[in-house]
Amino acid sequence: MRIAIIGGGIGGLATAACLKQASVDVTVYEKAALYARVGLGLLLLPNGMEALDQIGLGNRARELARPLDLAVLRRPDATFVKCMTLEHHLGIVRADLTELLTEGVPRETIRHSHELKTLTQTEDCVRLEFQEQDPVEVDFAIAADGVHSACRRSLFPDWRPAESRIRELVSVCHAPDLAAVLDRTFMKILSEEGGLAAGIVPSQRGRIIWFIQYDGRRFMDLPTTPKSRRRFAERLVGDWKEPIGELVDRTDFGTSYVWRTVAPTEPAPMHAGRVALVGDSAHPMPTLTSQGANTALKDGVTVAEELLAAFETGSDPVEALARYDRIRRPRIAEILRGGVRLVDDFLDPNQETSRPIPLVH
Ligand SMILES: Cc1cc2nc3c(=O)[nH]c(=O)nc-3n(C[C@H](O)[C@H](O)[C@H](O)COP(=O)(O)OP(=O)(O)OC[C@H]3O[C@@H](n4cnc5c(N)ncnc54)[C@H](O)[C@@H]3O)c2cc1C
Repeated sequence: MRIAIIGGGIGGLATAACLKQASVDVTVYEKAALYARVGLGLLLLPNGMEALDQIGLGNRARELARPLDLAVLRRPDATFVKCMTLEHHLGIVRADLTELLTEGVPRETIRHSHELKTLTQTEDCVRLEFQEQDPVEVDFAIAADGVHSACRRSLFPDWRPAESRIRELVSVCHAPDLAAVLDRTFMKILSEEGGLAAGIVPSQRGRIIWFIQYDGRRFMDLPTTPKSRRRFAERLVGDWKEPIGELVDRTDFGTSYVWRTVAPTEPAPMHAGRVALVGDSAHPMPTLTSQGANTALKDGVTVAEELLAAFETGSDPVEALARYDRIRRPRIAEILRGGVRLVDDFLDPNQETSRPIPLVH
């Protein structure tokens, strides 16, 4: 039984690590020639941690990341709005998470420089055509090729999510003194008129992951150089009270990243015949949910476990993929609905009701 995973990002590696625990013949086809330390940081939430525990990597993640036990909501003038205790939340640098997941997958399992062009299937097999590489035929395929998924385009050409209005300028600042003060607190600062927020996630080794979320229609310019990113950050939040002002001053914007996301209100189908879709390929998440990496981890582990159970009992693997879709799609739809509520509150806060803590569980 040969299984191909297209895309060796967070969801693809989690799927491979889970299948590898049972010595299944699996190959990951990854477009990139090698793993660059791209992406900055993210929040691991309880569902992502549960998935990491299921593949035996949870404790290593706890070593690499910083536990967070409090979420605090503030206004730009530093006045307190509300707080919430957190359990099983961690701040992690994205590259550390990718490196951790590759530890669970033997090196020879990953074929780099394999960019999928098209995916087709018959009743018996899945055929993968790559850019400048020989085609491959396998029994089953897992589409994990991210937000611009070529697999999804092949399977569901009409499913095209609109671009989200919300963009995020993500940075990492090395500031051990500030990280020590923040300790285990995830801080979110929301402008009262809406359309602008900042978030701070302390991580390990004195690093602080922080981000500015902004309405891309209201704040039109998309900064492309370190200097323009600094000016943009100063214009948006430079006069916000500590620690935001200090983070702006001390951040090297050369490594910052503007994250543009799409915003579906419903996930794509997560299964078609011999193919299952995991993570962003099926459901890019609104940035405000902090669920992109976490749902990708949970999808990967769920689809792998369903397949392994079918192999073990001799039942139909195609039915296992359909069951995966039935388990995950309603849950993903629920998270997306939570995301829509957060986006609405972010763009147009209702002054009558209390602002929600921007996390979706
Ligand atoms: C560069 C980057 C930075 C990010 N930064 C943050 C962040 O700071 N905070 C946060 O919360 N979230 C961030 N995200 C989003 C979050 O990481 C994703 O929601 C999460 O990784 C989803 O996992 P995934 O496996 O579905 O997709 P990804 O982790 O994006 O993995 C997709 C993989 O597929 C590969 N691929 C793409 N097309 C093909 C193809 N045609 N053939 C073969 N391989 C292909 C890609 O190279 C990539 O390795 C970032 C995403 C990216 C891509």
